[in-house]
Amino acid sequence: MKRILNIKTIDKEGEEVKLAGWVHIRRDHGKIIFVDLRDKSGLIQLVFLPDNKELYNLASSLRNEWVIKVIGKVNKRPSKMINENLPTGKVEIEVQELKILNEAETTPFEINDDKDIAEEIRLKYRYLDIRRTKMKRNLFVRHKVIKAIRDFMDKRGFTEIETPILTKSTPEGARDFLVPSRLHPGEFYALPQAPQQLKQLLMVAGMEKYFQIAKCFRDEDLRGDRQPEFTQLDIEMSFVKQKAILNLIEKLIIKIIHKLVEIDKSLSKKITFKSFPRLDYEEVMKEYGTDSPDLRENKDDPNELAFAWIINWPMFELDENGKTYNACHHVFTSPKKKDLSLLESDPLKVHSWQHDLVLNGHEIGGGSIRIHKSDIQKKIFKLVGLSEKEIEEKFGHLLKAFEYGAPPHGGIALGLDRLLMIFLNEKSIREVIAFPKSGDSRDLTMDAPTQVSNEQLNDLNIKVTI
Ligand code: ASP
Repeated sequence: MKRILNIKTIDKEGEEVKLAGWVHIRRDHGKIIFVDLRDKSGLIQLVFLPDNKELYNLASSLRNEWVIKVIGKVNKRPSKMINENLPTGKVEIEVQELKILNEAETTPFEINDDKDIAEEIRLKYRYLDIRRTKMKRNLFVRHKVIKAIRDFMDKRGFTEIETPILTKSTPEGARDFLVPSRLHPGEFYALPQAPQQLKQLLMVAGMEKYFQIAKCFRDEDLRGDRQPEFTQLDIEMSFVKQKAILNLIEKLIIKIIHKLVEIDKSLSKKITFKSFPRLDYEEVMKEYGTDSPDLRENKDDPNELAFAWIINWPMFELDENGKTYNACHHVFTSPKKKDLSLLESDPLKVHSWQHDLVLNGHEIGGGSIRIHKSDIQKKIFKLVGLSEKEIEEKFGHLLKAFEYGAPPHGGIALGLDRLLMIFLNEKSIREVIAFPKSGDSRDLTMDAPTQVSNEQLNDLNIKVTI
């Protein structure tokens, strides 16, 4: 007999089934033993009757989280025993055979309730935390949302392309994670802060419509909803105007929101603006004093979603010392043509084709139309303070690529963790990531980072000086 999921028992009344999973809870009611059996689809009630002594004794030895396999008959529950809160609540399994597949120690916290538990403990035992209802649901929704994204992009002619994790630093305004190269002593790869340059190179390569569910790495001090590694929906398109990018993303977001209700009615959302307003950066700053305003009509309603675009950004801002120009988005963002002449005379007056997507006071995405000509790109590099030598070392490959017929192009990246956090009414992105880092950037499940052996360090020609 093939094992089926608990949820499948609801249309197997009268039939014999084989189930497997974890003991969620055991209740002894006088002569009858009830066990809630949990698998990935949810709970089902098992019933052990006293007439089969051996089976009954084995059942009475069961403890929470033991792994078992049963064969039994699906019976309709007596009407007053129906549990409306459980999808399988109209049936129960009269067990005929029970096999204990594995015993379990007492878990550090209960799996079968939703009590708040210290996050450190949850992360250390993440595999147990994920057994609980909320994390399981969040990961399931995450999967469904990512699948909806992939289907949506595929239907519109986008190709998903993986870009390397061991690569060269791309400036996104954060510190790089570096990986020492054993084969090239003294040299380092950088983990990508984003696949920015590679997706632009894919446009030069003629792929025209690229996307990727991309892991990005930024060595930043952690703040509320940041993680040193996070996931972006990364998109790039050739021959597009800014409007086409914004329209595409709006359609995608609406599609995801519809998907959420399909998955779980309780995730239904109210969208404040059916068509996302496109707001001028300077006006937004004047009116709200922030570039990611919360535009909800009712700020206390987590189920209200107020999306808005912020466009018409300045190309540069001055850094803290008021001396160097920094790109407001990144150095690959195209200045507006009408402002090109200001690049030399008054760079702070130059506007760019940057677009940011904000939601309920969070920045959830950003992108731009890019520069696709070497001479303009070089000018921008110089304005942000790079010397000829640095330009060649860091970006020679991109400038070269632009000389072989680079199409006009642009794109965007959306922070998927943050988006999911808001969709699921969670307070932290850690709630939507299977194995997140702790607040101080540690992987508590695997216990990383750790020291490594001298042998490994020698291989890498690295000497630790602390
Ligand atoms: N690479 C940018 C980022 O990670 C997004 C983009 O410009 O497409 O923010």
